[in-house]
Amino acid sequence: MKDLNHINTKILGLIGHPIKHSYSPYIHNLTAELLGFDCIYLPFDVPASDLRNALRGMKALDILGFNITIPHKESIIQFLNEISEEASIIGSVNTIVNDHGKLTGYNTDVNGVFETLIPYNEEINGEVITVVGAGGSARAVIYTLIRHFKPKVINLINRTLQRAESLREYFSEKMKFDSFNTFELFPPVLVEVLENSKLIINATSIGMYPDIDDTLTEINKSFNENQIIFDLVYNPTETKLLKIASKQGALTINGIKMLVLQAAKSFDLWTEQTMPTEKIEKALQLYIKN
Ligand code: NAP
Repeated sequence: MKDLNHINTKILGLIGHPIKHSYSPYIHNLTAELLGFDCIYLPFDVPASDLRNALRGMKALDILGFNITIPHKESIIQFLNEISEEASIIGSVNTIVNDHGKLTGYNTDVNGVFETLIPYNEEINGEVITVVGAGGSARAVIYTLIRHFKPKVINLINRTLQRAESLREYFSEKMKFDSFNTFELFPPVLVEVLENSKLIINATSIGMYPDIDDTLTEINKSFNENQIIFDLVYNPTETKLLKIASKQGALTINGIKMLVLQAAKSFDLWTEQTMPTEKIEKALQLYIKN
Protein backbone atom coordinates (compact mmCIF):
# COMPACT_ATOMS: atom_id res chain seq x y z
CA MET A 1 0.00 0.00 0.00
CA LYS A 2 1.13 3.54 -0.76
CA ASP A 3 2.75 5.22 2.26
CA LEU A 4 0.14 7.84 3.07
CA ASN A 5 2.05 9.05 6.14
CA HIS A 6 4.55 10.75 3.94
CA ILE A 7 4.59 14.41 5.00
CA ASN A 8 5.75 15.61 1.58
CA THR A 9 2.84 14.15 -0.38
CA LYS A 10 1.38 16.97 -2.47
CA ILE A 11 -2.36 17.25 -2.98
CA LEU A 12 -4.05 17.93 -6.31
CA GLY A 13 -7.76 17.76 -7.00
CA LEU A 14 -10.89 18.44 -8.93
CA ILE A 15 -13.71 20.65 -7.69
CA GLY A 16 -17.21 20.71 -9.15
CA HIS A 17 -20.84 20.11 -8.17
CA PRO A 18 -22.18 17.56 -8.44
CA ILE A 19 -18.93 15.68 -8.99
CA LYS A 20 -19.85 13.29 -11.76
CA HIS A 21 -17.71 10.40 -12.82
CA SER A 22 -14.38 11.82 -14.01
CA TYR A 23 -11.29 10.27 -15.58
CA SER A 24 -9.02 12.98 -14.17
CA PRO A 25 -8.18 11.12 -10.92
CA TYR A 26 -7.17 8.08 -13.00
CA ILE A 27 -5.02 10.17 -15.39
CA HIS A 28 -3.20 12.18 -12.72
CA ASN A 29 -2.71 9.40 -10.17
CA LEU A 30 -1.36 7.07 -12.87
CA THR A 31 0.96 9.85 -14.07
CA ALA A 32 2.27 10.40 -10.55
CA GLU A 33 2.87 6.66 -10.18
CA LEU A 34 4.70 6.38 -13.53
CA LEU A 35 6.87 9.42 -12.78
CA GLY A 36 7.45 8.51 -9.13
CA PHE A 37 6.11 11.94 -8.20
CA ASP A 38 4.78 12.07 -4.66
CA CYS A 39 1.24 13.42 -5.00
CA ILE A 40 -2.37 12.36 -4.79
CA TYR A 41 -5.30 13.66 -6.88
CA LEU A 42 -8.74 13.67 -5.29
CA PRO A 43 -12.25 14.74 -6.39
CA PHE A 44 -14.03 17.27 -4.11
CA ASP A 45 -17.77 17.99 -4.33
CA VAL A 46 -18.07 21.73 -3.65
CA PRO A 47 -21.38 23.61 -4.07
CA ALA A 48 -21.27 27.23 -5.28
CA SER A 49 -21.89 28.55 -1.75
CA ASP A 50 -18.62 26.94 -0.60
CA LEU A 51 -16.44 27.87 -3.53
CA ARG A 52 -14.66 30.76 -1.82
CA ASN A 53 -14.08 28.65 1.32
CA ALA A 54 -12.68 25.82 -0.81
CA LEU A 55 -10.06 28.21 -2.19
CA ARG A 56 -9.26 29.49 1.31
CA GLY A 57 -8.79 25.85 2.30
CA MET A 58 -6.59 25.31 -0.76
CA LYS A 59 -4.24 28.03 0.46
CA ALA A 60 -4.36 26.98 4.14
CA LEU A 61 -3.61 23.34 3.30
CA ASP A 62 -1.09 24.23 0.59
CA ILE A 63 -2.94 22.23 -2.05
CA LEU A 64 -0.82 22.50 -5.18
CA GLY A 65 -3.54 22.74 -7.79
CA PHE A 66 -7.14 22.14 -8.72
CA ASN A 67 -9.00 21.32 -11.87
CA ILE A 68 -12.31 23.13 -12.02
CA THR A 69 -15.40 21.63 -13.59
CA ILE A 70 -19.10 22.37 -14.03
CA PRO A 71 -20.63 24.63 -12.68
CA HIS A 72 -17.66 26.68 -11.39
CA LYS A 73 -15.52 27.32 -14.49
CA GLU A 74 -16.74 30.90 -14.91
CA SER A 75 -17.71 31.89 -11.36
CA ILE A 76 -14.32 30.87 -9.93
CA ILE A 77 -12.60 33.71 -11.79
CA GLN A 78 -13.69 36.36 -9.26
CA PHE A 79 -11.75 34.57 -6.48
CA LEU A 80 -8.41 34.28 -8.31
CA ASN A 81 -5.41 36.61 -8.15
CA GLU A 82 -4.60 36.28 -11.85
CA ILE A 83 -5.85 34.54 -14.95
CA SER A 84 -4.00 33.68 -18.13
CA GLU A 85 -4.73 35.45 -21.39
CA GLU A 86 -6.57 32.52 -22.95
CA ALA A 87 -8.74 31.94 -19.84
CA SER A 88 -9.55 35.64 -19.81
CA ILE A 89 -10.65 35.68 -23.45
CA ILE A 90 -12.61 32.43 -23.18
CA GLY A 91 -14.05 33.50 -19.81
CA SER A 92 -13.53 30.06 -18.32
CA VAL A 93 -10.92 28.45 -16.06
CA ASN A 94 -10.34 24.69 -15.76
CA THR A 95 -7.03 24.74 -13.85
CA ILE A 96 -5.80 26.68 -10.81
CA VAL A 97 -2.20 26.81 -9.65
CA ASN A 98 -1.51 27.71 -6.02
CA ASP A 99 1.88 29.42 -5.81
CA HIS A 100 2.35 30.01 -2.06
CA GLY A 101 -1.13 31.51 -1.72
CA LYS A 102 -1.27 33.25 -5.09
CA LEU A 103 -3.95 31.60 -7.22
CA THR A 104 -3.69 31.73 -11.01
CA GLY A 105 -6.32 30.37 -13.40
CA TYR A 106 -5.69 28.77 -16.80
CA ASN A 107 -7.73 27.08 -19.52
CA THR A 108 -5.79 23.99 -20.57
CA ASP A 109 -8.56 22.77 -22.91
CA VAL A 110 -6.92 25.19 -25.34
CA ASN A 111 -3.69 23.17 -25.15
CA GLY A 112 -5.68 19.96 -25.58
CA VAL A 113 -7.36 21.23 -28.74
CA PHE A 114 -4.19 22.84 -30.12
CA GLU A 115 -1.93 19.84 -29.64
CA THR A 116 -4.56 17.45 -30.98
CA LEU A 117 -4.95 19.47 -34.19
CA ILE A 118 -1.41 20.71 -34.80
CA PRO A 119 -0.34 17.53 -36.69
CA TYR A 120 -3.03 18.49 -39.27
CA ASN A 121 -2.07 22.17 -39.46
CA GLU A 122 -1.28 22.12 -43.18
CA GLU A 123 -4.61 20.53 -44.07
CA ILE A 124 -6.82 22.79 -41.95
CA ASN A 125 -5.04 26.16 -41.96
CA GLY A 126 -7.13 28.73 -43.86
CA GLU A 127 -9.98 26.27 -44.52
CA VAL A 128 -13.70 26.13 -43.76
CA ILE A 129 -14.23 24.70 -40.28
CA THR A 130 -17.49 23.67 -38.65
CA VAL A 131 -17.95 23.63 -34.88
CA VAL A 132 -21.06 21.99 -33.48
CA GLY A 133 -21.92 23.18 -29.96
CA ALA A 134 -21.90 26.47 -28.11
CA GLY A 135 -20.99 25.46 -24.55
CA GLY A 136 -17.77 25.73 -22.57
CA SER A 137 -15.69 23.38 -24.72
CA ALA A 138 -16.88 25.09 -27.93
CA ARG A 139 -15.50 28.37 -26.57
CA ALA A 140 -12.06 26.79 -26.05
CA VAL A 141 -12.25 25.26 -29.53
CA ILE A 142 -13.20 28.54 -31.22
CA TYR A 143 -10.46 30.47 -29.38
CA THR A 144 -7.85 27.91 -30.47
CA LEU A 145 -9.00 27.85 -34.09
CA ILE A 146 -8.90 31.63 -34.42
CA ARG A 147 -5.63 32.01 -32.53
CA HIS A 148 -3.69 29.19 -34.20
CA PHE A 149 -5.33 27.91 -37.40
CA LYS A 150 -6.50 31.04 -39.27
CA PRO A 151 -9.81 29.59 -40.52
CA LYS A 152 -11.33 31.04 -43.67
CA VAL A 153 -14.81 30.59 -42.17
CA ILE A 154 -16.12 29.10 -38.94
CA ASN A 155 -19.61 27.60 -39.20
CA LEU A 156 -21.21 27.50 -35.77
CA ILE A 157 -24.03 25.00 -35.42
CA ASN A 158 -26.03 24.60 -32.24
CA ARG A 159 -29.37 23.17 -31.07
CA THR A 160 -30.17 26.57 -29.51
CA LEU A 161 -29.39 29.03 -32.29
CA GLN A 162 -29.36 31.98 -29.89
CA ARG A 163 -26.32 30.55 -28.09
CA ALA A 164 -24.41 30.17 -31.36
CA GLU A 165 -25.24 33.78 -32.21
CA SER A 166 -24.04 34.96 -28.80
CA LEU A 167 -20.73 33.17 -29.37
CA ARG A 168 -20.39 34.76 -32.77
CA GLU A 169 -20.87 38.25 -31.26
CA TYR A 170 -18.58 37.46 -28.36
CA PHE A 171 -15.64 36.27 -30.47
CA SER A 172 -16.14 38.92 -33.14
CA GLU A 173 -15.63 41.51 -30.44
CA LYS A 174 -12.95 39.78 -28.34
CA MET A 175 -10.81 38.39 -31.17
CA LYS A 176 -11.78 40.63 -34.09
CA PHE A 177 -12.76 37.61 -36.17
CA ASP A 178 -15.84 38.14 -38.33
CA SER A 179 -16.05 35.14 -40.66
CA PHE A 180 -18.77 33.26 -38.81
CA ASN A 181 -21.93 31.62 -40.12
CA THR A 182 -24.45 30.38 -37.56
CA PHE A 183 -26.98 27.58 -38.05
CA GLU A 184 -29.52 25.70 -36.03
CA LEU A 185 -28.82 21.99 -35.64
CA PHE A 186 -31.31 20.93 -38.30
CA PRO A 187 -30.71 18.07 -40.78
CA PRO A 188 -31.33 19.68 -44.23
CA VAL A 189 -28.95 22.56 -43.54
CA LEU A 190 -26.53 20.31 -41.73
CA VAL A 191 -25.63 18.09 -44.71
CA GLU A 192 -24.64 20.99 -46.92
CA VAL A 193 -22.63 22.74 -44.21
CA LEU A 194 -20.85 19.56 -43.16
CA GLU A 195 -20.00 18.32 -46.64
CA ASN A 196 -18.34 21.64 -47.48
CA SER A 197 -16.16 21.70 -44.34
CA LYS A 198 -12.54 20.57 -44.19
CA LEU A 199 -12.65 20.08 -40.44
CA ILE A 200 -15.75 19.24 -38.38
CA ILE A 201 -15.58 19.40 -34.60
CA ASN A 202 -18.30 18.01 -32.37
CA ALA A 203 -18.22 19.99 -29.12
CA THR A 204 -21.59 18.74 -27.87
CA SER A 205 -22.36 15.74 -25.70
CA ILE A 206 -24.30 14.06 -28.53
CA GLY A 207 -23.29 10.40 -28.72
CA MET A 208 -21.78 10.31 -25.23
CA TYR A 209 -22.36 7.26 -23.02
CA PRO A 210 -25.08 6.12 -22.29
CA ASP A 211 -26.69 7.71 -25.41
CA ILE A 212 -24.26 6.02 -27.73
CA ASP A 213 -26.77 5.60 -30.58
CA ASP A 214 -27.19 9.37 -30.94
CA THR A 215 -25.28 11.24 -33.63
CA LEU A 216 -25.28 14.64 -35.32
CA THR A 217 -26.38 13.06 -38.56
CA GLU A 218 -26.76 9.63 -40.11
CA ILE A 219 -26.49 11.03 -43.63
CA ASN A 220 -23.37 9.55 -45.21
CA LYS A 221 -23.24 12.32 -47.79
CA SER A 222 -22.16 14.76 -45.02
CA PHE A 223 -18.68 13.22 -45.00
CA ASN A 224 -15.91 12.45 -47.48
CA GLU A 225 -12.30 11.27 -47.67
CA ASN A 226 -10.88 14.83 -47.71
CA GLN A 227 -12.21 15.68 -44.27
CA ILE A 228 -11.06 15.51 -40.67
CA ILE A 229 -13.70 14.85 -38.02
CA PHE A 230 -12.77 15.56 -34.39
CA ASP A 231 -15.27 14.45 -31.75
CA LEU A 232 -14.56 15.81 -28.25
CA VAL A 233 -16.58 12.96 -26.76
CA TYR A 234 -14.20 10.34 -25.28
CA ASN A 235 -16.69 7.75 -24.02
CA PRO A 236 -17.28 5.72 -26.12
CA THR A 237 -13.83 5.94 -27.69
CA GLU A 238 -15.43 5.67 -31.14
CA THR A 239 -18.75 7.52 -31.29
CA LYS A 240 -21.42 6.77 -33.85
CA LEU A 241 -20.44 10.03 -35.61
CA LEU A 242 -16.85 8.84 -35.98
CA LYS A 243 -17.99 5.44 -37.22
CA ILE A 244 -20.17 6.98 -39.94
CA ALA A 245 -17.50 9.50 -40.99
CA SER A 246 -14.79 6.85 -41.00
CA LYS A 247 -16.87 4.64 -43.32
CA GLN A 248 -16.94 7.54 -45.80
CA GLY A 249 -13.13 7.70 -45.68
CA ALA A 250 -12.76 10.76 -43.42
CA LEU A 251 -9.88 10.94 -40.95
CA THR A 252 -11.34 10.69 -37.45
CA ILE A 253 -10.02 11.82 -34.05
CA ASN A 254 -11.69 10.97 -30.74
CA GLY A 255 -11.67 13.04 -27.53
CA ILE A 256 -9.12 10.93 -25.64
CA LYS A 257 -6.04 12.70 -26.96
CA MET A 258 -7.46 16.09 -26.00
CA LEU A 259 -8.46 14.80 -22.57
CA VAL A 260 -4.92 13.58 -21.92
CA LEU A 261 -3.22 16.63 -23.44
CA GLN A 262 -5.25 19.13 -21.42
CA ALA A 263 -4.45 17.08 -18.31
CA ALA A 264 -0.75 17.04 -19.27
CA LYS A 265 -0.70 20.82 -19.41
CA SER A 266 -2.37 21.07 -15.99
CA PHE A 267 0.07 18.55 -14.50
CA ASP A 268 2.99 20.51 -15.94
CA LEU A 269 1.65 23.79 -14.53
CA TRP A 270 1.31 22.23 -11.07
CA THR A 271 4.45 20.14 -10.89
CA GLU A 272 6.78 21.15 -13.78
CA GLN A 273 6.78 17.46 -14.68
CA THR A 274 6.08 16.06 -18.16
CA MET A 275 3.24 13.58 -18.37
CA PRO A 276 4.06 10.44 -20.43
CA THR A 277 1.06 11.16 -22.64
CA GLU A 278 1.33 8.18 -24.98
CA LYS A 279 1.38 5.70 -22.11
CA ILE A 280 -1.48 7.48 -20.37
CA GLU A 281 -3.52 7.59 -23.57
CA LYS A 282 -3.11 3.85 -24.12
CA ALA A 283 -3.98 3.05 -20.52
CA LEU A 284 -7.00 5.35 -20.61
CA GLN A 285 -8.34 3.77 -23.83
CA LEU A 286 -8.37 0.39 -22.08
CA TYR A 287 -9.73 1.81 -18.82
CA ILE A 288 -12.67 3.47 -20.62
CA LYS A 289 -13.44 0.35 -22.68
CA ASN A 290 -13.60 -1.88 -19.58
P1 NAP B 1 -21.76 22.28 -22.15
O1 NAP B 1 -21.09 23.56 -21.83
O2 NAP B 1 -22.83 21.77 -21.24
O3 NAP B 1 -22.40 22.42 -23.65
C1 NAP B 1 -23.16 21.36 -24.17
C2 NAP B 1 -23.40 21.59 -25.67
O4 NAP B 1 -24.00 20.40 -26.19
C3 NAP B 1 -24.36 22.73 -25.99
O5 NAP B 1 -24.01 23.29 -27.21
C4 NAP B 1 -25.71 21.99 -26.10
O6 NAP B 1 -26.65 22.66 -26.91
C5 NAP B 1 -25.27 20.71 -26.76
N1 NAP B 1 -26.15 19.58 -26.51
C6 NAP B 1 -26.26 18.87 -25.36
N2 NAP B 1 -27.13 17.87 -25.52
C7 NAP B 1 -27.60 17.95 -26.79
C8 NAP B 1 -28.53 17.20 -27.56
N3 NAP B 1 -29.18 16.16 -27.04
N4 NAP B 1 -28.76 17.56 -28.85
C9 NAP B 1 -28.10 18.62 -29.37
N5 NAP B 1 -27.21 19.37 -28.71
C10 NAP B 1 -26.97 19.04 -27.43
O7 NAP B 1 -20.74 21.09 -22.30
P2 NAP B 1 -19.16 21.16 -22.68
O8 NAP B 1 -18.39 21.32 -21.43
O9 NAP B 1 -18.99 22.11 -23.77
O10 NAP B 1 -18.92 19.65 -23.19
C11 NAP B 1 -19.43 19.16 -24.43
C12 NAP B 1 -18.88 17.77 -24.70
O11 NAP B 1 -17.46 17.83 -24.86
C13 NAP B 1 -19.12 16.76 -23.57
O12 NAP B 1 -19.40 15.51 -24.13
C14 NAP B 1 -17.78 16.70 -22.85
O13 NAP B 1 -17.56 15.44 -22.22
C15 NAP B 1 -16.83 16.90 -24.02
N6 NAP B 1 -15.54 17.47 -23.59
C16 NAP B 1 -14.43 16.76 -23.89
C17 NAP B 1 -13.19 17.26 -23.53
C18 NAP B 1 -11.96 16.47 -23.87
O14 NAP B 1 -10.90 16.76 -23.29
N7 NAP B 1 -12.02 15.53 -24.78
C19 NAP B 1 -13.08 18.49 -22.86
C20 NAP B 1 -14.25 19.20 -22.58
C21 NAP B 1 -15.49 18.67 -22.95
P3 NAP B 1 -27.64 23.79 -26.31
O15 NAP B 1 -26.82 25.07 -26.28
O16 NAP B 1 -28.77 23.84 -27.26
O17 NAP B 1 -28.03 23.34 -24.93
